[in-house]
Amino acid sequence: MSTKWSYSSMSLFQQCPKKYYHLKIAKDIVEYPSEQMRYGLAAHKVAEKYIQDGTPIPPQFSYMQEALDKLKDMKGEIICEYRMGLTYDLEPCKFMAKDVWWRGIVDLLVVDGEAAKIVDYKTGKNTYPDTKQLELLSLAVFKHFPEVKVVKAGLLFVVHPSFVKEKYHAEEQEERWKKWIEQSKELDAAVETDVWNPKQNFTCRAWCPVTSCAHNGRSNWD
Ligand code: SF4
Repeated sequence: MSTKWSYSSMSLFQQCPKKYYHLKIAKDIVEYPSEQMRYGLAAHKVAEKYIQDGTPIPPQFSYMQEALDKLKDMKGEIICEYRMGLTYDLEPCKFMAKDVWWRGIVDLLVVDGEAAKIVDYKTGKNTYPDTKQLELLSLAVFKHFPEVKVVKAGLLFVVHPSFVKEKYHAEEQEERWKKWIEQSKELDAAVETDVWNPKQNFTCRAWCPVTSCAHNGRSNWD
């Protein structure tokens, strides 16, 4: 049985298997959402409600209005917070299906015949935009909407306005899946062997909640 994963859980595993183990397998450490994360979730909700039902944007999020108005006017079927699942055989399935292997949520999906657009809202800085999630979501869109041949994907930075764009083609799917399959195999191997090595990274010094780790900047190891 292959381990279920999402982009964020795989990123966590790739960042540090030991941290992944404590947060996702043993669940003996809980990482509470930071203020920044809570703000991001609130902004996502505002965007979803505005595009879906026209719920007015609260004044503190008014900076999003212009960008969201442009998205609202896009041609095609607009779907907010579209939840997708894939089985191990890369067959589309429901987000909560029993045999789901991968899960992902598109903040905004627009399907228009053979073309689709996906948008991921970001409330953080746009210094190092990470488009890997867009690739994964686009690959899932190709499975859920087999008529779609091209996906234009973008990270919409709403606080520091900018739009980072990527384009994915259906014929590239097989090649693009390879690295994700490889990563999922690494995760499976860790689960199977129960080996969770620490991997030092930028979160060790002040952010990682695994304070029992020797590499943690807030640990008692000296
Ligand atoms: S302190 Fe660093 S190496 Fe240790 S668990 Fe946390 S992220 Fe991993």
